[in-house]
Amino acid sequence: MGFADSLWSDPVDYLRAHQPEDPVLFLSPAALQAQARRFLSGFPGLVTYAVKANPDETILANLAAAGITGFDVASPEEIALVRRLIPGAALHYNNPVRARAEIALAVAQDVASYSVDAQSELDKLIALVPPRRASGTQTEIAVRFKLPVPGAAYDFGAKFGADEGLAATLLDRVAQAGFAPALTFHPGTQCQDPAAWEAYIRAARRIAGPIRLSRLNTGGGFPSRRHHADAPPLEAIFATIARTTAEVFGPDAPALVCEPGRAMVADAMALAAQVKALRDDGPVFLNDGIYGAFAELPSIGTPDRLCALSPEGLPRTGPARPRVVFGPTCDSLDRLPGEPALPEDLAEGDYLLVQGMGAYSAAIATRFNGFGAARHHLVLDLGA
Ligand SMILES: *Cc1c(COP(=O)(O)O)cnc(C)c1O
Repeated sequence: MGFADSLWSDPVDYLRAHQPEDPVLFLSPAALQAQARRFLSGFPGLVTYAVKANPDETILANLAAAGITGFDVASPEEIALVRRLIPGAALHYNNPVRARAEIALAVAQDVASYSVDAQSELDKLIALVPPRRASGTQTEIAVRFKLPVPGAAYDFGAKFGADEGLAATLLDRVAQAGFAPALTFHPGTQCQDPAAWEAYIRAARRIAGPIRLSRLNTGGGFPSRRHHADAPPLEAIFATIARTTAEVFGPDAPALVCEPGRAMVADAMALAAQVKALRDDGPVFLNDGIYGAFAELPSIGTPDRLCALSPEGLPRTGPARPRVVFGPTCDSLDRLPGEPALPEDLAEGDYLLVQGMGAYSAAIATRFNGFGAARHHLVLDLGA
């Protein structure tokens, strides 16, 4: 995508000056760096960033500037991107399914850690990845396991993760083959409940058995602020991770790693979409929808951190009522889930400013039906 160089004080400042007819994504580098520092100072281990949540170069550069040195990558393209922008970064290739050619490329790019959740995939890694890197350090293989733990917005265990028994077998093979043995899990995205991490860390202790883990990767899944009412309990989750790890592993505790995507970037961006039309019977048509920057909403729901602004940037203050909100394409599925409450005096040409739009938005947006071309602008403050 790429952000324009100019820096606006806040989204309203830009909307008032330009009255844009395309959707606009606003990034606050200050908010992004502050969130990175919140993880760096609060999480009891290495903080890496899951690139897929938002692979924009400005995002990656700001994270590096804030002190993030490790990146969770899932494809050759993401590996090449991070290597080019941040040459010294530690790369953790945590997509547990890889073609042989992808593994060869990862080895050439000096990937530090690989995840695995199946015998057949571990066979490939053992065949193609040297247990020691050029620097002499051991290459890490982290066995990804899953538990039937609720709490997240959707279930990541449905696709990846070995059950406890298989995870123990894989971990043993990893150690036998001379790699640094690690465990990893992902509790599911937008997970609000610290108890999910506790359950996973207890399971990690059972799986490790007599093997001394080099590291334990506690995944992504950390929540962002999707609703006014729920401030993400990041510090409570960090505290639970630290306390449970110390309790169950004692003096042999492995070093910890986390790989937030959503919680790192979501609240550093806002989206402004314009009201194209209002139907007499109530439905609202926006210039962006589920094939654009709202791509993730059908699986996670519509946030309530939104406000309506007149083209002059003044907040609409009429009483709120639930409205059907459609995107711009001709597809009838192109509708925001639920019926967001919007002010009664909402008018054509107004803007909806939606906070918390930095993760899984621009990264997934398509140009379906000729829509979805958002502009990108930097702001000092998101005006949240
Ligand atoms: C997507 C993903 C993440 C990031 O998840 P969030 O819920 O966005 O924090 C971390 N690790 C892995 C392996 C992933 O696939």
